[in-house]
Amino acid sequence: MDGPMTTPATLILLGPPGAGKGTQARRLSAAFGLVQLSTGDLLRAAVAQQTEAGRAAEAVMTAGGLVGDEIVTAILGERLSAPDCAAGVILDGFPRTTRQAEALDALLAARGQAVTVAISLEVQDQAMIARISGRYTCAACGEGYHDTFKPTQTPGRCDACGSDRMKRRADDKAETVRARLLAYHAETAPLTAYYERLGLLRRLDAMGAIDAIAADLSALIARALKR
Ligand code: AMP
Repeated sequence: MDGPMTTPATLILLGPPGAGKGTQARRLSAAFGLVQLSTGDLLRAAVAQQTEAGRAAEAVMTAGGLVGDEIVTAILGERLSAPDCAAGVILDGFPRTTRQAEALDALLAARGQAVTVAISLEVQDQAMIARISGRYTCAACGEGYHDTFKPTQTPGRCDACGSDRMKRRADDKAETVRARLLAYHAETAPLTAYYERLGLLRRLDAMGAIDAIAADLSALIARALKR
């Protein structure tokens, strides 16, 4: 069991946009008591607040490109320093470049920590465009839905909390999704080799049903946390 002497776990979910990183990270954080850290969420909050970082990131995000490593690493590093992250974290959407992976290693090393495991959610690109273009979330509680694969039981009303405030991401349009997939293959896909070299990579077939993938992921993470 985790005692006070164990160092916080750092789990990484890798995979293209639409692979289910956010959905699964949300479930895993509840199941394992870890904090979900999504640089996409942090950046969208920065854009909404029009902070300096948010203003710098906005145009790139709208175009489906990657925000600069310095900006993203600074935002992530600041969030990682918050006391709640001592429970351990699940990173969803970070790192996305080799430079970010190296920066993360340095951030963790400075705290006497290291990456626990990096899990690659393996999916086919063609399926990702359909998955992403139909998705929406509850603005009140964050529960995720999809027009075809997981609609709300009552149209427009969240199954989890009953709110009728649903939102869609501005960058989930088909043409932007294509740009995001291109950025993924150019910049992020090489990260599997980075973590493979370190002996930290696990691959998981993520084409199936959300519940089945969640079960596989939980088993994999339970094993990784025991070591
Ligand atoms: P996500 O919610 O993870 O799909 O991220 C949405 C957008 O935020 C991406 O398309 C990028 O423009 C930006 N973004 C999020 N995380 C990163 C990151 N680690 N590095 C660079 N850009 C990022």
